[in-house]
Amino acid sequence: MAAEIVKIVSKNFDIPDSHKLEVALKHGRYSSIDKLFTMKPEDVTEEVCKSGLRGKGGGGAACGPKWKLMPPVDERPRYLICNGDESEPGTFKDRQIFQYDPHLLIEGIICSCYAIGAHESFIYIRGEYKFFIDQLNNAIEEAYEAGIIGKKVMNKYDFPIDITVHRGGGAYICGEKSALIESIEGKRGHPRLKPHGKECEWFYDMPATVNNVETIASVPNIVENGYESYTKYGTEKAPGTMLFAMSGPVKNPGVYEMPYGNKMIDVINEIGGGMRDGLKLKAVIPGGASCPILTAEEVDKAYLDYESMWDIGSTLGTGGMMIIPEGVSMVEVAKNLIEFYHHESCGQCTPCREGTGWIDKIIKKVLDGEGSSEDLETILDVCETMNGKTVCVFAPAVKDIIKSIVQKYKHEFESHFSN
Ligand code: SF4
Repeated sequence: MAAEIVKIVSKNFDIPDSHKLEVALKHGRYSSIDKLFTMKPEDVTEEVCKSGLRGKGGGGAACGPKWKLMPPVDERPRYLICNGDESEPGTFKDRQIFQYDPHLLIEGIICSCYAIGAHESFIYIRGEYKFFIDQLNNAIEEAYEAGIIGKKVMNKYDFPIDITVHRGGGAYICGEKSALIESIEGKRGHPRLKPHGKECEWFYDMPATVNNVETIASVPNIVENGYESYTKYGTEKAPGTMLFAMSGPVKNPGVYEMPYGNKMIDVINEIGGGMRDGLKLKAVIPGGASCPILTAEEVDKAYLDYESMWDIGSTLGTGGMMIIPEGVSMVEVAKNLIEFYHHESCGQCTPCREGTGWIDKIIKKVLDGEGSSEDLETILDVCETMNGKTVCVFAPAVKDIIKSIVQKYKHEFESHFSN
């Protein structure tokens, strides 16, 4: 089957001035709200559960069941936090929503806040994304002025909602939800220890839900058109669509909304236009920089949904495909990645803080022609030490990508050995 593009979240991206309220209203924005307020909050959550909507920030956790982790409404304030940090190299999809359809995000926030009973929402975004922050703040200002949010929703529904944009300092780890919350609370962006059982997040010790920007932007369509409008796309376990990003030397790099389940090679050739300048595909890092690398042969067998990617030993992550052509040194790729991760480790856990630095030094040694087989064994050994012994999944993810490169392209590392 040919790769297909289906526009739900990206429906308005190509419309001139789609970010402005006047244009957004003409093209269907906020049209889910009247139906929203005919529903009970728990029915909205149920509809989202039935849609099978999964988080689009990397983990792929189901959205509806996550909302159900919020405790029953009581006198305490509760919060919806939108994770727009998007610091994963190769991932640049949420900023398309900030740029082209910020009112869709606001509409999604209204729907999601109503479902979980929150009256206040924070959007967390990297501080250096000034253009996107301005775009977002302008849209929020327009929404306040028009009475879409504020004391009432759409000037008539007695459900106050306030939205605040919070600028982060630009740390990769602040994309991790508990580090993100720590950051908004004014502390260092360090991930928190996870509770044993499943529970909601806690923001200033109050109940909170953290959802990715694209996940929230997917909610209005489900509310307005019902869960079937979403489940008719994608696969049984991964219904719906996702904004997939393609970077690297393909003819048409960019962000494309597609149903889950397309064949990766078809997406690269048909949507991405294939490799440019006669280059040959060597490998793909499939879902942002921390997902295990796929060789060209594996890319031929890969399908873009969570389960299929797990089956071939990688992950779908954020759907940001980094295309690597023949001629690129995989040792250089590994060096580039580990330098980044060493720099971005928050430093709380010794295996992560020391392990990333250690691997960085060894790969540099290999590139300098001073490496040996023993060094490759040490890298794999350090990778194992980083697995399952840390506060957050940063270290295991670094282990996954580095180990996959060393194992699949061992001969390239060996070609640098002098004896
Ligand atoms: Fe910080 Fe790394 Fe530990 Fe995560 S695994 S908490 S990034 S040191």
